[in-house]
Amino acid sequence: MSHTFRVFATCDIGDAVEVLRKRGYDVEVYPHPEPPPKKLIIEKVKSGIDGLITTLRDPIDAEIFAAGKGTLQVVAQYAVGFDNINRADANRFKIPFTNTAEVLTEATAEFAFFMLGVLARKMWTAEHLTRENQWGFWHPYLPFLGDEVTGKTVAVIGTGRIGLAFIKKCIGFDMNVLCYDPAYQNHAFVRSVQEILDLRHARGLTKEKSSIKYVGFEESLREADFVSVHVPLLREAESATPTYHLFNETTLRLMKPTAYLVNTSRGPVVDQAALARALRENWIAGAALDVYEKEPLPEDSPLRDPAIENRCRLMPHFASAGRITRLSTDPDKGMAGRCIQGLIDVLEKKYGGDISKMPYVVNKEVFAS
Ligand code: NAD
Repeated sequence: MSHTFRVFATCDIGDAVEVLRKRGYDVEVYPHPEPPPKKLIIEKVKSGIDGLITTLRDPIDAEIFAAGKGTLQVVAQYAVGFDNINRADANRFKIPFTNTAEVLTEATAEFAFFMLGVLARKMWTAEHLTRENQWGFWHPYLPFLGDEVTGKTVAVIGTGRIGLAFIKKCIGFDMNVLCYDPAYQNHAFVRSVQEILDLRHARGLTKEKSSIKYVGFEESLREADFVSVHVPLLREAESATPTYHLFNETTLRLMKPTAYLVNTSRGPVVDQAALARALRENWIAGAALDVYEKEPLPEDSPLRDPAIENRCRLMPHFASAGRITRLSTDPDKGMAGRCIQGLIDVLEKKYGGDISKMPYVVNKEVFAS
């Protein structure tokens, strides 16, 4: 390389940093585990870096792009979600940004399914009982019971990559699946899953027949025993079917009082005040959350109310946090590998320098006008 590419990473992404350095890049990594202040990111961008590696914790907007005018060539986001990046601003300043879709799909989907199981079978409460030496006797129904997952009905809200992977986990538990997605419906996938469900029944592996189908949003909420959310965060101006507060007082009240909500998508998709109320007043049976309107979850959050503790599982935005998924430097396996490959593609002008052909660039329209 004739030019030494300078990169600032707002977070350490492991061995992938060394991969870039071995390639001749000059990489500076923000050394602390907390996100850097925005003014520091602006300062680094202003200093003339070519590439910026970001996480979902960094607000990336016009201020950042303006600071990089004439020098910043790419923002490489270490996540599939990119609601922290203002796409319109990136396009206005003609800066492509990349994400790490696909490599975290299975890890996130399996975590969502495990959260569902932990919630419904009250595993957290049960372990506390054992650890706190409150397990005084075996009894048919005391001190509490959980709800089975096998054979129940699950609503999958958003049937993109993670939603479909989540369905693959659910069918192993003979669940009936209600799919909802106003923008992308994969009918071929649904047909294949139905064939598998039919075959399992025909070969005597399951007693009951299970089914999968697309339905409307309200029907999915009214009928489901479990609701799992797999949508991007889309605010009012960003989509004809925004997902901001998709779950609110009105929609939570449509769910059965025996139903459970699982959210591994983005916090603002669920109105948290409404959810806390729904749990306190028993509109629904329980909820398991990995993401929050404000992260980390504030100390005074109503979701921490001890009165709902046994019906509310709280995870620290952890669904993609598998060792290989997070850190593998292989772009087909790890977020770190895919993140740096997206950066390399743009900086080293792979694909003939045609941004619209680069697989990890999100805003492929960036140079269209
Ligand atoms: P994707 O783009 O493949 O799928 C999202 C789906 O949601 C699309 O099919 C889209 O049509 C659908 N959708 C859009 N608006 C909708 C609406 N109003 N109602 C129902 N469906 C709607 O994305 P993906 O790779 O499956 O990831 C989904 C989201 O999961 C990401 O955007 C990210 O925010 C989140 N995520 C979270 C974690 C975590 O650690 N908790 C990890 C990975 C991804």
